[in-house]
Amino acid sequence: MKQVELVIKNPTGLHARPAKVFVNAAKQFKSDVRVYHGEKKANAKSLISMLTLGVETGNSIRIEVDGVDEADALAALETAVATGLGEEEHIAAAKQAPATPSPEPAPPTPPVADGQVKGLPAAPGIAIGPIHQLQQTELEVEETFAGTSVEENRLQTAIEQARGQLHTLRRQMQQRQASSEAAIFEVHLEILEDPDLLDAVLARIQQKKSAAQAWQATIEQRAATLASLNDSLLAARAADIHDVGYRVLRLLVGAEDSGLRLPDHPVIIVAEDLTPSVTAALPKDRVLGFCTAVGGPTAHSAIIARALSLPAVVSAGPGILAWSNGTTLILDGNSGLLTTEPDAEALAQAEATREKWLAQKSAAAAAADQPAVTQDGHHVEVVANIGGLADAETAVTAGAEGVGLLRTEFLFLDRAEAPDEEEQFAVYRDIARAMGQRPVIVRTLDIGGDKPLPYIDVPPETNPFLGERGIRLCLARPALLRQQLRAILRAAEYGRLRIMFPMVSDIEELRQARAMVNEVAAELSAPPVEIGIMIEVPSAALMADRLAAEVDFFSVGTNDLTQYTLAIDRQHPALAGKSDGLHPAVLRLIERTVQGAKAAGKWVGVCGELAAEAQAVPILIGLGVAELSVSVPAIPAVKAQIRQLTLSETQELANRALNCATAAEVRALVVDD
Ligand code: PEP
Ligand code: MG
Repeated sequence: MKQVELVIKNPTGLHARPAKVFVNAAKQFKSDVRVYHGEKKANAKSLISMLTLGVETGNSIRIEVDGVDEADALAALETAVATGLGEEEHIAAAKQAPATPSPEPAPPTPPVADGQVKGLPAAPGIAIGPIHQLQQTELEVEETFAGTSVEENRLQTAIEQARGQLHTLRRQMQQRQASSEAAIFEVHLEILEDPDLLDAVLARIQQKKSAAQAWQATIEQRAATLASLNDSLLAARAADIHDVGYRVLRLLVGAEDSGLRLPDHPVIIVAEDLTPSVTAALPKDRVLGFCTAVGGPTAHSAIIARALSLPAVVSAGPGILAWSNGTTLILDGNSGLLTTEPDAEALAQAEATREKWLAQKSAAAAAADQPAVTQDGHHVEVVANIGGLADAETAVTAGAEGVGLLRTEFLFLDRAEAPDEEEQFAVYRDIARAMGQRPVIVRTLDIGGDKPLPYIDVPPETNPFLGERGIRLCLARPALLRQQLRAILRAAEYGRLRIMFPMVSDIEELRQARAMVNEVAAELSAPPVEIGIMIEVPSAALMADRLAAEVDFFSVGTNDLTQYTLAIDRQHPALAGKSDGLHPAVLRLIERTVQGAKAAGKWVGVCGELAAEAQAVPILIGLGVAELSVSVPAIPAVKAQIRQLTLSETQELANRALNCATAAEVRALVVDD
């Protein structure tokens, strides 16, 4: 056994980010690694355990390592701590400066009128109905102990079942194009596998507690410790622990349903926030819509609401939690306005708006297979974002004129090894066939960042979104990309496939990727296919004129372009409300992309979530975007909206938007009717 005592100099102590670097470093070794801080002890391979130590700047910790590679492990951990655990740049500054305060949650939106609250619109539509405050039922955990091995088996079985459920949910979210949602379930899987959590539960079972009691007590204790550290990011982890904890507990006590207790008539759900698990389990026949006190329009609940066509408002402030069950609410998912106890006039007006919305929806569905042509004769291609063959089939019925984004990573996730060339070929071929003569943009593997793969070894990164992601990762593993390109080029014979590279930030990446396409095409004697890139990084937008000379098309990924332009993590819970793709900075980059493309005679599409937003559609068209690629359920409405516009008006609008100072000013230019 070897040990060392060290002082933690990181400005915020062993906070989530440095703790994760520490844990990842410890996981590289076989030896047991324990960390002691005062009375507390942690398993260094468990993030939850390390976070609950509550190590602050200037505190000393003792690291104890025991095992075959103890000397190497200790040396590596010492170096990791000495070099700042990914925060090297802060260490010197921290000597003089006080620790940075943790981010405060956004202040609640003030009421706009008596009985009205303004939140952020998250999914379009109007819902009118009684409020139901969502509370998960308390589960009865009885004090029954059936023997250590019986309880241990029960625990293992429940964990296995929970793991299966989480894998299924993750897959469903991937197929619904909700990749950040899928990433949340990945965190849940990580929690489920946390060795320290498991040890603590097993220790309680040894003390003659039932598996359910042991699990519940451990989860509550871990979540409470994290929540008490008074840090909003750690509090979010506490919520995840609760969500996973509740899932396993339900299985342990044999509760059959999702724990949702809903009245037997349709209601509008009000909640502080909706966990991914609850959102995925909402019964559509009894839920008219929902509003949450926190969250943002790009949060998981909002993405699912849009996929389910469920009107939703988020970030409406804590005041909504005091509303009584049964009170009538008008929820306007277009404006974000919530009106409680409306008078007869307001109710009649909302009902008329709802009728109009429903009529528009069915008219849009009836005209879905017609092209989207503006009043002055300008055709905008409306195509689909898909995750697989099933989506391709529904996309055709929904009126898609092609596929603007096939996220191929769905094929690679949730498995122990990469799909081989034959498997990939069969999938791309079937999608090409399903789309007939319609073009299909196949995006090459976009992993890394929030989408890690177990069988692709990426060394731990402090900032995975700024690390080996997308094309960078593929170019560093040429065999993987070459195999995918072979599969795509072979399948191209069966339809109109195009190839698109994600996350390009430098022209050299494009050149290398193109060179590989040429080599593979020569090997296969395959005919040429169109090649494009995603514009997701500001450097690519700024260099669009130069890039345009070497591609056939661009597709703007506004989800990432917004994240990298505004420097807001697309999954950040507290900053979600500020992460707005209609920010003039993002629009200026899109404009520059379009101008660069036009000068070279190339076209630009948009395939991020923004492309389906009613307020964004006219602005994007006015900026000169030729193709909008949206999730399948959004296709009819986007097409119908385009038919109401004129190109000249959208151009004028886009000009005004480019000159706004804030996203709010841009949104104020486009008020939905
Ligand atoms: C985007 O970034 O806008 C995009 C479409 O790619 P993804 O959401 O898959 O990162
Ligand atoms: Mg992206």
